[in-house]
Amino acid sequence: MKVLVTGGAGYIGSHTCKYLARNGNEVTVYDNLSTGHKELVRWGDFVHGDIRDESRLRAVIHRVNPDGIIHFASSISVGESVVDPGSYYENNVLGSLRIMQCLRDEGVRPLVVSGSAAVYGLPDNCPVCETEKPMPINPYGRTKLIMEWMLKDFAKAHALPWVALRYFNAAGADPEGETGEWHEPETHLIPNVLRSVAEDGNTLKVFGTDYKTKDGTCIRDYVHVCDLASAHALALEYLLNKNKSTSINLGNGKGISVKEIISTVEKVTGKRVKFEVCDRRPGDPKELVADSKKARQLLNWEPRYESIESIIKTAWDWNNKLKNKAMK
Ligand code: UDP
Repeated sequence: MKVLVTGGAGYIGSHTCKYLARNGNEVTVYDNLSTGHKELVRWGDFVHGDIRDESRLRAVIHRVNPDGIIHFASSISVGESVVDPGSYYENNVLGSLRIMQCLRDEGVRPLVVSGSAAVYGLPDNCPVCETEKPMPINPYGRTKLIMEWMLKDFAKAHALPWVALRYFNAAGADPEGETGEWHEPETHLIPNVLRSVAEDGNTLKVFGTDYKTKDGTCIRDYVHVCDLASAHALALEYLLNKNKSTSINLGNGKGISVKEIISTVEKVTGKRVKFEVCDRRPGDPKELVADSKKARQLLNWEPRYESIESIIKTAWDWNNKLKNKAMK
């Protein structure tokens, strides 16, 4: 199968490209390299382009004629979206709209998109099911929800088949060390904890210890990036076979606090984490844990990395590689 991957030079995108290529698919990456890395485009052709550039995107879809599209290209940081909402609406909403318009005009085909647990905001129930009413509490989450609304309208009007995969917290790295998380600046918890043990003078900031949780820090559901990668391939297959559009959670179903991440990193690395307690980060919900029954039932998805130790171990190996190779 031919698959066009927007944002294939990024974290989850590059792992998905590897998974797709390893399973016999022809991959074309479309990425503007604003946050992605050319070095991580190792599985398939590369086209440099922005999803908001409608004519370029249309030309690529026309030329490649993919059987399906996986759309990762988006801005991903909750904190940044609070400070600079305009760029989030521009990139995530307008960019996604351009993809849908190109597919409408060039011929609809299955579209799998990066959704987010951020659409749930402060859910009443935890673990969260897809039936929970989405009520995002930050601009990032709102852009992801608007994208899903647009997809529903395009499905109705133009028969565009879609699946939105609502990720909880992507973590870890390719166990073969060929790709991994590489953001500059880094805002995510696990790579920041690893940097605090790997780099002298780097102290982790813990954003809030006064949440009403078991130890006062926020709780998240960490899911291995390779498990996310396989879910995208399964979602594409599902759409090709069943043609039924829907939103699906992807998580491990285990709630882990910031302090538990710190102690697991200490266990895995054998080093002490230096941290300071700071104010809460705006836009952070206290707890997000997935109910992923739907992914298991509908997609036959089975996450392979269930323990946080195994997830952190792959992230630690990648962090060392990035540091030693001076890939930064
Ligand atoms: N966090 C933290 N220090 C950091 C980065 C994150 O204390 O340097 C906290 C953050 O406030 C949240 C959790 O770790 O409670 C997970 O944040 P992350 O940015 O990794 O993912 P998010 O859940 O925002 O998508």
